[in-house]
Amino acid sequence: MNVRDSEHMIAELNREETYLLTKDAKEADLILINTCSVREKPVNKLFSEIGQFVKHKKHGAKIGVCGCSASHLGEEIFKRAPEVNFVLGARNVSKIREAVLKERFLSIDINYDESAYAFGEFRQNPYKAYINISIGCDKKCAFCIVPHTRGEEISVPHELILKEAARAAKSGAKEIFLLGQNVNNYGRRLSGGKRGEINFSQLLVKIAEIDEVERIRFTSPHPLHMDDEFLEVFASNPKICKSMHMPLQSGSTAILKAMRRGYTKEWFLERAKKLRAMSPQASISTDIIVAFPGESERDFMDTMEVMEEVRFEQIFSFKYSARPLTTAAQMTNTVNNKTASLRLKTLQDRHAGLLDEMTPNYKDRVFEVYFEELRENKMAAGRTSQNFTVCVEGGEELLGKIKNVKITRPQRLILYGQVV
Ligand code: SAH
Repeated sequence: MNVRDSEHMIAELNREETYLLTKDAKEADLILINTCSVREKPVNKLFSEIGQFVKHKKHGAKIGVCGCSASHLGEEIFKRAPEVNFVLGARNVSKIREAVLKERFLSIDINYDESAYAFGEFRQNPYKAYINISIGCDKKCAFCIVPHTRGEEISVPHELILKEAARAAKSGAKEIFLLGQNVNNYGRRLSGGKRGEINFSQLLVKIAEIDEVERIRFTSPHPLHMDDEFLEVFASNPKICKSMHMPLQSGSTAILKAMRRGYTKEWFLERAKKLRAMSPQASISTDIIVAFPGESERDFMDTMEVMEEVRFEQIFSFKYSARPLTTAAQMTNTVNNKTASLRLKTLQDRHAGLLDEMTPNYKDRVFEVYFEELRENKMAAGRTSQNFTVCVEGGEELLGKIKNVKITRPQRLILYGQVV
């Protein structure tokens, strides 16, 4: 989502002037730091990063802090880093041109409605088009700061999404990647409070009807909204990539309740089982938080059990991090850091073990790979429908193409193979 917000800012800047991108901060006239605030660590890094830019930047170059940390820190950024010229919240991206013109500018209104704003066109990767289909989040997960930085959930009108998808696909982006904090809750509320005309499953079907679209991905769906209609569309539509993200967070029903996730361990397992049955070739990835306040050893074992049962192909796992504005930050039954680190390691080690069991099975299998980028040593990389990264020897000629690849050397994170 941040990548897309950055693309939107670049597109806006380019409306009237030409901005060239540079990786060398010393060369830049404008330095944009697009931030996250989901965990504490990146927020701490922000100020040391600003310090580095201040030290090395060109005389007169402006610095803008954007995104979720901008939303929640606001004025404090100017206080702690007076060299910053503007602070632009995650829902105020469209104001970037106004921001760069002023000596000092702050816009962090989380009620600002950009859901139907027609951003300019810019894509870092011409082969893949990220499209925001909703902004904000209506969930009230106890650990999560996002509703406080991105505001309430508003869906983008489907006509705009379809137009953007068609335009991107016609210009070469065979893959459409739909984005939303709660992506499969699409259509619940449009700007002004009206309900949308179509739901997420129907939106997927409509996007798949665009001839030039060959692949559709989306993130992040919420397990609670994985109803049968959604699973059926996912499993049966050949253009929808067979990779599902199912953020578990915890396997313990008691902790899920304290987290206010709205589902139980059994419900999650039932949905995952149904998905495996309906779409046996699909991969399932997840997000897991260990050591949420009150998590006992038994609760943690529940999480380990779910991992064992679902056999996730990929996990993103985190130690719980207390975030300002969230209800969990008030909880006093915290888990000590040593236990938290141990649980994270136990979880990650076992998942590495699961991957060691799964990965060898990919040897000699043939996958359809969409090539998106070049890597070192004359390698080209792409993804299978399941979202596995595949590398083969090759160059430019492969980019933007879908090829059959036979896996010769499967590794945990990269499957090496040959085009066949
Ligand atoms: N809207 C998405 C989450 C986006 S944040 C969803 O509900 O799936 C991505 C992940 O960061 C979350 O799924 C969660 O696992 C993790 N996360 C969020 N808040 C956290 C916190 N306070 N501490 C640790 N991890 C957190």
